[in-house]
Amino acid sequence: MKITDVEAIILKQPQIELIGDGTQDTVVVKVYTDEGIVGYGEVDSSPYVVKAIIDAPASHMVCMGLKEAIIGEDPLDTERLWNKMYHMSYYYGRRGVAIHAVSGVDMALWDIKGKMLGLPVYKLIGGAFRDKVKAYCSILMPDDEGEVREIIDKYTEQGFRAFKFGWGALGKSLRDDVRLVGAARKHLGDDKDLMVDIGMVWGDAKTAIQRCEALSEFSPYWVEEPLWPDDLDGYRRLCISTDIKIAAGEEVGTLYEFKELIEGCGIDVVQPDMSRCGGLTIARKLTDINPNIPIIPHNFKSGILMAASLQFIAAMKNAEYLEFCCQETAISKNLVLVGFKVDKDGYVDIPQKPGLGIELNEEFILNYLWENK
Ligand code: MG
Repeated sequence: MKITDVEAIILKQPQIELIGDGTQDTVVVKVYTDEGIVGYGEVDSSPYVVKAIIDAPASHMVCMGLKEAIIGEDPLDTERLWNKMYHMSYYYGRRGVAIHAVSGVDMALWDIKGKMLGLPVYKLIGGAFRDKVKAYCSILMPDDEGEVREIIDKYTEQGFRAFKFGWGALGKSLRDDVRLVGAARKHLGDDKDLMVDIGMVWGDAKTAIQRCEALSEFSPYWVEEPLWPDDLDGYRRLCISTDIKIAAGEEVGTLYEFKELIEGCGIDVVQPDMSRCGGLTIARKLTDINPNIPIIPHNFKSGILMAASLQFIAAMKNAEYLEFCCQETAISKNLVLVGFKVDKDGYVDIPQKPGLGIELNEEFILNYLWENK
């Protein structure tokens, strides 16, 4: 089998709001083969920059777009093609958006491999530790305690038994953090997990240590991204100073960066994003860095990333939670034909169809094409 084309399709809703919600646009990656199998991927980054990285013609041997790097190759050679993309983009790449783009292509290659073999992707990366996973409702933190309670009621009704409030109104002051997280805990009661995502705005290690101390009475299941991802020394100091689990990793790509966070900083929960970290090819190696660390993927995009996250979770021993993006944008809800739902106990089934196990809603794609806006 040979790769015949790679397409990066940018989708966006009519108006973009400048809030911490990455589901307002996306880039879908399609990898075509000479046997008619098409693989799907997605990237959570700037769709416009990702498209440029995929489409760029070669400037020289190690400064090339990803499409040109893999055309004519066998899509089943996932490990080798990851390395080829990494090396042929290294002049402008190695980290950041180049690795984000590699992740989307890698996701599509795994989809092709599963479809060709007639197996779900999790069977190809180690097999199943679980056939369903507990989901947590992931949503922006509103500024008002009443809204916090409304969100909890609405999504508890749908089956969720765990909640993560993130970004939005969090991190602005000690008082607001205590007020909002306290309201969430009070309304949830003691039997539901509550995660808190600070969105990197606590600023420095001492502030983070103080705020963790203040939030500890609400028993957060973890505190996520309290600090800027480059503040590795801050993470190191925080992790040895608090008993609250510190989660991070959604900004990180390649094993080099994960090693720094896991071994160097001692974080407690690692959150690779299948559409940013280097893809399934990288994420599945995180257990080699630390076999015991919980791996809970970052998943805040459309049903494509959700499908990739579920395949990954199925095959990882320590992946016991699914981040379920509850931002109700058109792209988060409608890009795949059959979406994902929690059951009455708060679990989501792992898809069992070949590849990622999804079909795209092509009519929706046509309606949300960026170039038509
Ligand atoms: Mg986060």
